[in-house]
Amino acid sequence: SPETARRPIRDLPDELISQIAAGEVVERPASAVRELVDNALDAGARQVTVRLLAGGVRLISVEDDGVGIPPEELPVALRRHATSKISNLHDLESVNTMGFRGEALAAISSVSETALLSRTQDQASAFLLDARSGELRPAARSRGTTVEVKELFFSTPARRKFLKTDATELAHCVEAVRRHALARPDVGFAIWHEGKLVEQWRSTLETADTADENRQREALDRRLSDVMGADFLEDSVAVAFKLGNVTVTGRAGLPDAARSRADQQFCYVNGRFVRDKVLTHAARSAYEDVLHGQKQPVYALFVEIDPLRVDVNVHPTKIEVRFRDSREVHQAVRHAVENALAVPRAQALAAAAA
Ligand code: ADP
Ligand code: MG
Repeated sequence: SPETARRPIRDLPDELISQIAAGEVVERPASAVRELVDNALDAGARQVTVRLLAGGVRLISVEDDGVGIPPEELPVALRRHATSKISNLHDLESVNTMGFRGEALAAISSVSETALLSRTQDQASAFLLDARSGELRPAARSRGTTVEVKELFFSTPARRKFLKTDATELAHCVEAVRRHALARPDVGFAIWHEGKLVEQWRSTLETADTADENRQREALDRRLSDVMGADFLEDSVAVAFKLGNVTVTGRAGLPDAARSRADQQFCYVNGRFVRDKVLTHAARSAYEDVLHGQKQPVYALFVEIDPLRVDVNVHPTKIEVRFRDSREVHQAVRHAVENALAVPRAQALAAAAA
């Protein structure tokens, strides 16, 4: 109404800014798990262990054996827009790390009780930082980082109310790790819930093997069957295709392996799991002639493209991307899957004719 008293414009307090921003980044425990595993991988981890209590609501602990954080930088890691991953626009445009916005730890720690425990190669001891109190003290662990997130959304009850049962939140957390695990057969992953091992995906790659293409392909196949189910390798064909600037690899399920739900469709762009209409549409259209009705194909597709031709800075969670030339990407993915399916299809036709 015209009677409304005008209030002065003021800067929001920092903590409130983080809590508002946290709404975009951390929707539920699985979003925090995803961000923390992103960080572990960016730190060069070879083994990532996730421990959860009550579906991640009471505790998320992500432990890695990566490069670690020196004690003087622990408080900086928690600050908004503080990152070690980019420092200028050029870095942003060619970013090859999972993170770069410097938002996740700030967001997570503003809506939980967070502690960072870390040790770099050069330190004689690890250090533990309690985010709330700011207390920093020596602690024990080997090289790497453990981030502990307790009582997620304890200070934002509106958000906490949207959480589902522990079992559902746990399933989302496992799914978040699964998405990472598919893309990184060189890293071992383990998920514990309430003290029980829920999933474990071991790495079959030695550091020395990572340059060997055959060993890499074997490791990926092994990881695909560990994560997608033992039948997946038999029920799918290898995808390997290049069109212009776009390379597509991975595996595409045979039409018979299709499901009623689209819950086994994994697309990656430069190693990052993405949800993208261009990619899912392209993949589905490759099955146009062989899949009828509402059947959903199964696949894990890895798209590699010049970082300058894709913008990952579209959304805070970076699950969406924007391609500079989406027609080219669509064609590449469609042809990649069509070509892969053509071989078993020709065999089936020949068998039927015989
Ligand atoms: P971003 O990943 O976008 O840089 P984050 O808030 O997730 O932002 O993390 C802030 C910084 O803290 C990172 O840039 C990195 O330097 C450091 N960091 C976070 N997690 C880890 C980790 N597990 N190991 C080593 N450094 C980490
Ligand atoms: Mg991050």
